[in-house]
Amino acid sequence: MLADSMQILHAQSNGFCYGVQRASRLAEELIQKGVRPVYTLGPLIHNPQEVARLAKLGIEPRERIDDCIGGVTLLRTHGITKAEFARAKELGIDWVDAICPRVKVPRRHIDKFLKQGRTVLLLGDSGHPEVQALLSYSTGKVSVVTGADEVAGMDLSEPVGVVAQTTQSREAFERVVAACRERQADTASAFTICDDSEMRQNESRKLAARVDLMLVIGGHNSANTRRLAEICRQVQSRTHHVESADDLTEIDFASVNRVGLTAGASTPDWIVSQVDECLRKSLKNHVSAQVKCPP
Ligand code: SF4
Repeated sequence: MLADSMQILHAQSNGFCYGVQRASRLAEELIQKGVRPVYTLGPLIHNPQEVARLAKLGIEPRERIDDCIGGVTLLRTHGITKAEFARAKELGIDWVDAICPRVKVPRRHIDKFLKQGRTVLLLGDSGHPEVQALLSYSTGKVSVVTGADEVAGMDLSEPVGVVAQTTQSREAFERVVAACRERQADTASAFTICDDSEMRQNESRKLAARVDLMLVIGGHNSANTRRLAEICRQVQSRTHHVESADDLTEIDFASVNRVGLTAGASTPDWIVSQVDECLRKSLKNHVSAQVKCPP
């Protein structure tokens, strides 16, 4: 049975991060001005429910830049590759830059390290659009690593510069830097994880340690939400990554007195509110340890 005294605690940082808020505002401004069609190259943000909501307003994701002819294209928060940008110019695509200014920071450090003759180790997910964009602009050797383990097998005879995708964790970054130093490599580093990501990770970790069960809300395709779930899981084994209230039915809430709610940087407030509301309604009925939200 669900505990009728169950408390629901929210992380303070829930809601869109600065970059996603900015991209969303730019998109909605275009719609309000009557611009049609408005395209985004790939999803504007990694949240299927929000992308579906934006699509209803007239903001349509397109897979290829060639499919964006005839509309105004928003350049997504994570950036686009050099080839995509060149193609957009070639096709005369009308675009609005919604790239988060903070995702441009690692690029500056990569350029600096390459100019210093260093090989760059970029801590990140190689398939992520942010990393793809960074790699496309780099003019020298940049190796993507997913963690310190990968440093062991690398040739570090040349000086290295370590940077990170903006949504990585500080611990993972520090471990990569330490692994390079342990191998006596000439190592420079630039901490390029964005403040917003770090604050969210720290708050979520603290909250996860105070509750009996942690819900991390956000798109399954959202790298920052997955990372948040990993971080929470380190201190709270009953951590679940949910996309929406529908996923709550799968979770066993037995013996849970306190639930923590946190959300990825691309999770809109309305989804967090739906999850909260669903939990509260289920508590009212408290029929079992499973949550069942009315349709
Ligand atoms: S997480 Fe940080 S870098 Fe990424 S979009 Fe948000 S504010 Fe920008």
